[in-house]
Amino acid sequence: MSFDTLGLTPELLRVVADEGYIEPTPVQRAAIPLVLAGRDLLAGAQTGTGKTAAFVLPMLQRLHATGGRDARGPAIHPDRRPVRALILAPTRELALQVEASVRTYGARRPIRSVVIYGGVGFEPQARALRAGPGIVVATPGRLLDHHAQGTIDLSRVEILVLDEADRMLDMGFIRDIRRILGLLPARRQNLLFSATFSGEIRALASSLPDRPATAD
Ligand code: AMP
Repeated sequence: MSFDTLGLTPELLRVVADEGYIEPTPVQRAAIPLVLAGRDLLAGAQTGTGKTAAFVLPMLQRLHATGGRDARGPAIHPDRRPVRALILAPTRELALQVEASVRTYGARRPIRSVVIYGGVGFEPQARALRAGPGIVVATPGRLLDHHAQGTIDLSRVEILVLDEADRMLDMGFIRDIRRILGLLPARRQNLLFSATFSGEIRALASSLPDRPATAD
């Protein structure tokens, strides 16, 4: 099976070809059409399965299809460019990796992205956020710090991804995650990626307004 049956635009198919990918992995095959259709998703995926492309590729396509604000260029003041997609990750390493993938998969039509995580200076991140990124990749605690300081507005997020959701819960982030969910607009697309489907993950998924499709 090749990538061109999944509904991706020719531009993103070229990106995939540039990366040397021949066939979609199972999680990509299951997730990409559902994400493109705007569905909420609970997907089972370990690291190394290609899960990052499974959400980044269709996310880029949806952001381009319904906005293209970045394409309108610098005439729009950064303060008016909203964060449209938020990706939460359990660790700095994963956040950095995911943001690198956003840049790679977005190379042919970049959307500004910023990565924020704890343990490093706050101000450079605040400055990067002021530049008006469309996509933010973050660890939960530092994201809440930025929200408390007023350096990020989450009220226009259209797509939320919880990457390695089970690890985030294992690391004790459930309260932070619930607080973050409360800061987002009720109408949004939710994508949960998790290596395991524990009761806690299912409870989190079932607390979402739309019943997520499962891709396993
Ligand atoms: P991930 O699970 O997202 O961390 O991806 C693991 C690795 O698989 C990364 O190095 C990707 O570049 C690579 N990858 C993702 N999708 C494919 C694919 N369809 N074919 C070959 N390699 C892929």
